[in-house]
Amino acid sequence: MTKWVYSFGGGHDEGRADMRDLLGGKGANLAEMASIGLPVPPGFTITTEVCTTFYANDRNYPVDLEAQVQQALRRVEQASGRRFGDPDRPLLVSVRSGARVSMPGMMDTVLNLGLNDSTVEGLARDADDDRFAYDSYRRFIQMYGSVVLGIDHRRFEEIIEQVKLETNAFEDTALSAQDWRRVVDGYKEMIDREIGNPFPQRPEDQLWGAIGAVFGSWMNPRAVTYRRLHDIPVEWGTAVNVQAMVFGNMGDDCATGVCFTRDPSTGENVFYGEYLVNAQGEDVVAGIRTPQPLSKARATPGETPMESVMPAAYAELLEVRRKLEQHYRDMQDIEFTIQKNKLFMLQTRNGKRTVAASLRMAVDMARDGLIDRPEAIRRVNPAALDQLLHPTLDPRAHRTILAKGLPASPGAASGAAVFNADEAESRAAKGEAVVLVRIETSPEDIHGMHAARGIITTRGGMTSHAAVVARGMGRPCVAGAGGITVDYNDQTLRVGSRTLQAGNIITLDGATGEVFVGSIPMIEPAMSGDFGTLMQWADESRRLRVRANAETPLDAETARKFGAEGIGLCRTEHMFFDPERIGAVRQMIMANDEAGRRAALERLLPHQRDDFISLFRIMAGMPVTIRLLDPPLHEFLPHADAELAEVAEALGTDTESMRRRAAELAEANPMLGHRGCRLGITFPEIYEMQARAIFEGALMVAKETGTAPIPEIMIPLVGMKKELEITRSQVENVARQVFDKLGRTIDYTIGTMIELPRASLTADAIAEVADFFSFGTNDLTQTTFGLSRDDAGKFLPQYAEKGILPKDPFVSIDIDGVGAMIRIAVEKGRQAKPGMKMGICGEHGGDPASIVFCEQIGLDYVSCSPYRVPVARLAAAQAALGTAEDGTA
Ligand code: PEP
Ligand code: MG
Repeated sequence: MTKWVYSFGGGHDEGRADMRDLLGGKGANLAEMASIGLPVPPGFTITTEVCTTFYANDRNYPVDLEAQVQQALRRVEQASGRRFGDPDRPLLVSVRSGARVSMPGMMDTVLNLGLNDSTVEGLARDADDDRFAYDSYRRFIQMYGSVVLGIDHRRFEEIIEQVKLETNAFEDTALSAQDWRRVVDGYKEMIDREIGNPFPQRPEDQLWGAIGAVFGSWMNPRAVTYRRLHDIPVEWGTAVNVQAMVFGNMGDDCATGVCFTRDPSTGENVFYGEYLVNAQGEDVVAGIRTPQPLSKARATPGETPMESVMPAAYAELLEVRRKLEQHYRDMQDIEFTIQKNKLFMLQTRNGKRTVAASLRMAVDMARDGLIDRPEAIRRVNPAALDQLLHPTLDPRAHRTILAKGLPASPGAASGAAVFNADEAESRAAKGEAVVLVRIETSPEDIHGMHAARGIITTRGGMTSHAAVVARGMGRPCVAGAGGITVDYNDQTLRVGSRTLQAGNIITLDGATGEVFVGSIPMIEPAMSGDFGTLMQWADESRRLRVRANAETPLDAETARKFGAEGIGLCRTEHMFFDPERIGAVRQMIMANDEAGRRAALERLLPHQRDDFISLFRIMAGMPVTIRLLDPPLHEFLPHADAELAEVAEALGTDTESMRRRAAELAEANPMLGHRGCRLGITFPEIYEMQARAIFEGALMVAKETGTAPIPEIMIPLVGMKKELEITRSQVENVARQVFDKLGRTIDYTIGTMIELPRASLTADAIAEVADFFSFGTNDLTQTTFGLSRDDAGKFLPQYAEKGILPKDPFVSIDIDGVGAMIRIAVEKGRQAKPGMKMGICGEHGGDPASIVFCEQIGLDYVSCSPYRVPVARLAAAQAALGTAEDGTA
């Protein structure tokens, strides 16, 4: 018999933390907390397998589920000394979702379940508080009505408003027990009218309704979007947690709160959180009342920290904090409730954190011996490091402050203010930088938050939806900027007498909570402190070398600053786009004969030599891989009349003949056309000029600095051994000429890119004439799939959505296809030439999952854009430690 239900609490703990796949994160951790002796109200978890079985069987539950739920419910009754539906001592439960990974705000929750017209009286007697009981009952009907019965929440609010009007009350708190009774009656009548059935009174019916709603919400559009954005497979399913209620809203000796065992923004080792006296759990995250700090140390004048108000419960909570960190060896995000001065734990999970915080915590915990260094390296998500590598506001820059809120997620961003998620998404899709400004955010806004550079809310605290989600996404966020008034109708924001329209540029600093008018200059980040420490640990653990793709001095300097160990790809055609040079490049391409080409190349030679000299100086003593010209020709052809006329004049001919020449040279399929070594073979003088510039430049820098650079000359788009043989000997001839002329030599190597399937399949032959291989996985992906790099964006996203491809293969290596091509080439190449040096220089060189693959197949280095160098260093360390995400995408 399959076990579908697992109990926890009350001395009957059937689950453990490592069963999160089956019990979901929340269920697994509730069981774990209960088993280490923390005060957890008793309950049970219905497994994620029930969810998958439910959907696999046309939304039907397994037959034996009901009996197992009944049995688990009896245990909760025993543990709590209460009974479901008992008019005197009723058991009330919460029903919550809990997927394998946390999906904030995605799934629905029902509290106070088990209340009906008779048990509400029992609750009133129990709590000795009629008002509390009827308020609880109406909250339950409201939640159940909207979550389970699908009734618009405004219908409930209208009824409350009506009662307030009739009793002259402004606030909910002014309503009496009698008033709440009338609200409850109003709710029940309205529901009867809306759904044609009375509100369910049997607690069992209520329970199954709520369980069904949780499973149903796994497929709601918000959950589907969240899963798509976070690569969460639909097959994981959600669990359902049913747990005895405890009340944080039974009076002033009750409270509810959320906290982090360390600061989730900075990583500082301080207890960090918020609580509300006399409130129910959802009130803290909803951002309606302003929560108060936990500790005196974090309180500002006028605030009432829990440490002062409830010292005993606070002390107990501190002890829980210590136990949880020791037990989980990681920062925890905790939810708790205090009922009549007694502490209950409702949730713990590894807390979401900014990447800066994850770095600091990893380093601190390793130094304190809580975890070891390899574990510290594993703790930081390399892809997220990106956030630290981006600019912050220049402190010297002039700025006009608009408002201040909470520093909810660090980083700075500028962009056009927009007030709704759809607009954020559509403007961003057109390439515009936008900042999403909302009163508060909800799960419906996720797509807009994702598209925005930064997020501002005018309401809500550090644990509000906006703050939590922005931190998880790595978007800068200022939350609760109460000085700003947003008007969704007018599409404006107002601060005092100042009004900004949608589209006006604003800037936010998520590290300080400040919002500014206009855009502000930013500065580059520093690579020191905890960042430097973790990088050093990573460098000590990795095998793969990390190089950068760079051709300008600025890129090369950035790359070195970020720790690149050489250049893995210098795309020389990028050096030709400069306005000063493009004329000469066009003349070279358009010339009808060799003499014309040589004349143009003579003009380019000094520029090329200077380019290489700069790169060699910056990368002194390091390998620099220079790829000879590989332009898709169309990128350089003149089109406009003025361009044609200019080339015509330089070549001493007329515009019309240039137009004809351009038409002759135009290709139907430039990416598969006359590019790469095909150009070098048909116009050998091009590669000869480049080789000369390289050797002359290298000798000059060697003489000047005493540290010889190591040029690695790379021939692109080779498909046949003969192509490399021919181009190689051209380069060697030039080397001899230069060395003879200058009377000095330098070490160099000549290798090839492997970026065509034919090159992979014949890599053994090609290896005989190559000193190294560098995998050009951009072209290799294009040619293995037969998928144009330039056009794929039009339909590839749909392939990912439909699950045809798990990820965009131009971002993360397609292990099964392109990966197989690479494996073949590595194997054949090294068969022919044992120990041959091999690396990767396509975009995939900076993608953590692809780096794991590079480690597995034994490449020597990865090369990526300068800003991704730290990402690659960390990913390479994780790959070497063998615990990073599996490369089998
Ligand atoms: C590649 O094809 O992967 C590569 C690095 O070259 P390019 O992107 O310049 O074609
Ligand atoms: Mg290429």
